[in-house]
Order: sequence, then C-alpha cells, then structure tokens
Amino acid sequence: MEIQRTDYQWGEFHSPFYRSYTLANFRDIPQIKRLPKQLQFEMEVVGNIFPFKTNNYVVENLIDWKNVAKDPMFILTFPQKGMLKPKHFNKMAEAIKNNLDKKELQNIANKIRLELNPHPAGQLEHNVPKLNDGTKLYGMQHKYNETVLFFPSQGQTCHAYCSFCFRWPQFVGMEDLKFASHETAQLVQYLKEHPEVTDILFTGGDPLIMRTRLLANYLNALLEAKLPNLKTIRIGTKALSYWPYRFVTDEDSYELLELFEKVSASDIHLAIMAHFNHPAELSTDIVKQAIIRIRKKTGAQIRTQSPILRHINDDAKIWAEMWQKQVSLGLIPYYMFVVRDTGAQHYFGVPLVRAQEIFRDAYQIVSGLARTVRGPSMSATPGKIQILGVAKIGKVKAIVLRFLQGRNPTWVQKPFLAKYDDGAIWIDGLKPLEGKDFFFEKELEKILRKENTASGNDVSSAGGGPP
Ligand SMILES: *Cc1c(COP(=O)(O)O)cnc(C)c1O
Ligand code: SF4
Repeated sequence: MEIQRTDYQWGEFHSPFYRSYTLANFRDIPQIKRLPKQLQFEMEVVGNIFPFKTNNYVVENLIDWKNVAKDPMFILTFPQKGMLKPKHFNKMAEAIKNNLDKKELQNIANKIRLELNPHPAGQLEHNVPKLNDGTKLYGMQHKYNETVLFFPSQGQTCHAYCSFCFRWPQFVGMEDLKFASHETAQLVQYLKEHPEVTDILFTGGDPLIMRTRLLANYLNALLEAKLPNLKTIRIGTKALSYWPYRFVTDEDSYELLELFEKVSASDIHLAIMAHFNHPAELSTDIVKQAIIRIRKKTGAQIRTQSPILRHINDDAKIWAEMWQKQVSLGLIPYYMFVVRDTGAQHYFGVPLVRAQEIFRDAYQIVSGLARTVRGPSMSATPGKIQILGVAKIGKVKAIVLRFLQGRNPTWVQKPFLAKYDDGAIWIDGLKPLEGKDFFFEKELEKILRKENTASGNDVSSAGGGPP
C-alpha cells in the first residue's frame, strides 16, 4: 500500500544525497582541499592507523571550517596528529613518504595497532550467553541481570569510526564481527528462558544504519512473542547527531516512525539512546525536526549519553549547555562515560578526578530536570563504576567510588574508597585506600573463573556505544 507521505516531507526539509567520506576520498571535500598540505598529510598518516568515516551532513553543518585547529566537531571527525604517539606517527609518515605499497603500509599499521590495546578487557569470548540446550549466542551479551545486549548483524557499522571507541578494531578488520546476530528466534528463546531480563538493548555499530524493514524483522519478532518480562527496548544510535534525515526525510523514515509507534503502543517502552558529544550536534534545524518527529509521533523516549573527551567536551560549561539544550528539546540526560583503555585514549582521555570535577561543576548549574544524568562512569570488567568525588578521611584524601551496575548486583550503591591519584584515567590505575584489593576483586575473580575465561568484557561503553 502506498503510504501517505505528505506529512513527512517537511516543507523545506528533504534528504540530501548521502555521501560518505573516508581515508580513500577525504581530499575530495572542498573544505579539506583548502587546508594546508601538511595538515592533510597528517590526517592521512593517522587515518592509516585509525580509520575514520564521516558524511556530507557533518561536513556541511556541524564543523566550523574557519577554526579547524580548535573546532571540537572537526577534531572529533577527522584524524588528529596527537592521536598517535610521535614514534608511531613518524614511522607511518616515513612509510608513506617512501611510497611503500598498500600491503606494506597495512603491515606497519597493524603492528602499531597492536600496541594500542585493541582488545580491552578481552572482548571476544565474554559474557556470551547460552540457551538451555547449550547453543552459544554470539550476537548477544548478558552481563547485568536485567539487560541483554543484542548486536544485529546488519547493524555492525557506524556513521563514524571513533578512535576512542572500543569498536575501532572491528572497523580495521582486526576483530571479527562475531558479535553479530540475525537469530531473532534464539533471542526470543533466550528471553523466555530468562524471566529476569526486562530490557533489551540493540547496539552495534549503529542499529539505525539498518533499513527499517530489517529492523522491523527484529522488533516484530519481539512484539509477536508477547514476552511478559520484556518491558523496554533500547536502541543505541548516533543517527540523530550524524544523519538526522533518518527520522525526517529518508525514504523509509516514515516507516521507521511507524515502527517506533507500534512498539510504544504494545506497552513496551521504546528508548532511543542517542549519543551526543557536543552541543553543536543539537543545533541544526533538521536534528530538532527529527527529535520532534520521534517525540510527537511515536511515544518513544530519547535518552542521551556521551563520553567525556579531551579536546571535545572537557569543560563544565559545555556539558551544562548540552544537558540544558537536551532538556529543552525533551531529551533525558542519562550517562557521562569515561573513555576506556583502548585506541587513542592518551589523546581523548581525561583523568578521573578531573572528569568528576567537570561533571560536578556542570551538574551544579543545571536544574533538577537535567540531573537525571549519572557519571562519570567507567564501564569496566566488574561493572559500571561511578566516580563520586574526592573526600578527606581524617587527614587523608581519597577518591570515592560506587557501582552503578555490578557483576554482582549487591555491589551496587555502596561507596568505596581509592587512594587519591589525580593522574589515573581508568579503574586499573587506582589503588584501594586500605588493604591490597578493592572489596569486589576476590569475588570478581571467582565469577570470571566460573565463566572459564581470563577477563571480563563490556561493550556498551561507547560514545557512546552502545552504545
Ligand atoms: C550499561 C550497560 C547495560 C545497561 O545498564 P543500565 O544501567 O541499565 O543502563 C547493560 N549491559 C552492559 C554490558 C552495559 O555496559
Ligand atoms: S563511539 Fe559511537 S559512533 Fe563512534 S564508533 Fe563507537 S559506536 Fe560508532
């Protein structure tokens, strides 16, 4: 049946032709052509190690081309010299200058990549759930009781390839896409066998890269199964920031909104987990229109999350502005993440103590409606660990932490202490204030041993990615 679209063509709004840019063609971008040759070369050097991807919407609407040295959206989008340590940068620069062939460049790139912790906390065989009959479900992860992560196989790519994201090894082909799943029947079966699961989180990559009819296969299967335990479906996405036409004027945008509406009408809460790294991403008419469409038409709720990133948003004023803008657009601030120990962490990473100060200073100047946000939070092997602040215990300074999610649910919401260290950027850089181990470590070891694997895993900590 022909769908009435007049309502959704939105006057002045229409989808431009989508054009993606990567290392192979970034020099075709007119604004790039005008940049100094040396800068273009640096982008090429770094782009050979960390892949990157963007599109015409980002290039034409989000970047301030008059100020590329400082512009957060430019820095977020294109490779930066500082993302590589000098020895790695020089090695690749030399190889390119010497005109080594593709294969040789690839070999050098892979050697360097292996020094950048491409598999933080052992991503591969982890928290892989099993059906009662023993079938392993590789496209899923079940780390916290209530929530299962699902990685639809057609949603394994992204609008961008962020070098602070744990997914970057996938994008360079160092890691299989073995998370991917297209087995809806198995997903449904798993949810039947696990009545404790209330939430399913579609993540990737970016599940909204999928065409609506593919996404519909998954969602319809869940709706048709009428699972009494399933209360919420979440979809992690960067599409609002990087291609808002997805919800307004793309060919199947109307069907997408209808699909969202159908989920909401079935008494399952649909939550769009949107990644916004900077207020600039909330500034265009088309993103506002996309938000209005989702909120008015579908009953879905949009929640927001982002890592705190040096050079991009390591400033309380930026976060306060971002949360306020989000609230005024009807979005619910949800998480501030800490970037994990992989890829370009040395470039984007912010020390934990500093991250918490930024969080606190921003939180203090927004109204209660924006204080739904929690963070800064590390998605680490034992769980999601929030930095609550610095306290004095007698005369000794200590960092106060707590679990927001834990491998053992009883760890959650119990403050614990670490020795003050204003340089630490991840939980493994912290030491307990007293004793040798944090209170959870022995038990964590047991849990991991029981899983018969060496280390833990977490995959929703991206831009947010689950994102
Ligand atoms: C964050 C996360 C979830 C969801 O946790 P909520 O606190 O419910 O948002 C689920 N699984 C993993 C692995 C996560 O990192
Ligand atoms: S941070 Fe988000 S947009 Fe960037 S690569 Fe990871 S999942 Fe994709």
